[in-house]
Amino acid sequence: ADHKEELTSSIKSEGSGRVSLSGSGSTDSGRHDSAHDARWPRQNSLTMKEWDIPYDELKLFEKIGTGRFGTVYRGSWHGAVAVKLLHVNALSDHSVPLDTFKHEVATFRKTRHENLVLFMGACMKPPRLAIVTSLCKGMTLYTHIHLRKDKFTANKSVIVAQQISQGMGYLHARGIIHKDLKTKNIFLENGKVVITDFGLFSVTKLCFGNKRSARGDSLGIPPGWLCYLAPELVRALRPHASLHLPFSKTTDVYAFGTVWYELLCGEYPFKGQPPEAIIWQVGKGVKQSLANMQASRDIKDILMLCWSYRSTERPDFPHLLSTLEKLPRKRLARSPSHPVHLSRSADS
Ligand code: ADP
Ligand code: MG
Repeated sequence: ADHKEELTSSIKSEGSGRVSLSGSGSTDSGRHDSAHDARWPRQNSLTMKEWDIPYDELKLFEKIGTGRFGTVYRGSWHGAVAVKLLHVNALSDHSVPLDTFKHEVATFRKTRHENLVLFMGACMKPPRLAIVTSLCKGMTLYTHIHLRKDKFTANKSVIVAQQISQGMGYLHARGIIHKDLKTKNIFLENGKVVITDFGLFSVTKLCFGNKRSARGDSLGIPPGWLCYLAPELVRALRPHASLHLPFSKTTDVYAFGTVWYELLCGEYPFKGQPPEAIIWQVGKGVKQSLANMQASRDIKDILMLCWSYRSTERPDFPHLLSTLEKLPRKRLARSPSHPVHLSRSADS
């Protein structure tokens, strides 16, 4: 049976004119292949080929933006797509990062959920490493909240938070930790939440991890990232070593708390404070004060639970979802029909 698989593998890779993922002919990853095969069942590497997109088949149009991971382009591959080209200049000693990249791509293809961006495939031939997803049409929550200063009513915030909890609950049930949940990675398409960039964090850090980030400070902290980090992550921050941060499902829940705060308050927690001050406070268990926040007790309780200093005290997403569903809705949605009701009852 082994031999047969071998054969299928070589036929497939010849057919596409590309090097198979676990192929021994690859000069880029050849050195580590036996170790790679031992950790990866052969069947897995074969099925992954279905998600391997030849770089030449992709059409790239304008640049949408640049993030920590790489550069995102609007592209075309059987329709409109977003292509995230990873910065691979740091991958001169390929094998280990490439393995990680493949591994992360393998987790992507397990995701099918309304509130998660559609993963379409990846280019995995160094130096061309790219991730292809559906193109999100709306704006990110970040753009809504911080750039356009759109106000989210409590009701709308709850609806958005419920959808985030659904998507995140699904990811966690699949054993995937997002590691970079933030308003910049949450799109709103006609009222529907679409979460992007789950599980990609290690790849970014593989590309940037050992270098001084041009955009961050000496700890490699990009602006706007810190307030999503749970105390245990903040305490583990070391210069240029964020790859080894102890991310977990509960650190995703902490980050969700910050998103919930942004939705309700229209700004980041610890707004205007320098990174050192935020690190010191969060590391000590000091939270952003909610004294000036106009919201019900229930709503603030969710925030405080998600931001719990002890990770074990943070709720999980199914629990958050049911809490959000139980929140009393303001009469907003019903108010237009209210007078009608009144006149009816007056009639009878
Ligand atoms: P960040 O998430 O920190 O903004 P990214 O590299 O993930 O950095 O994204 C760069 C830009 O590309 C952002 O403006 C982001 O909104 C946009 N973008 C990322 N993924 C998609 C997508 N699937 N559809 C549309 N735009 C996207
Ligand atoms: Mg992103």
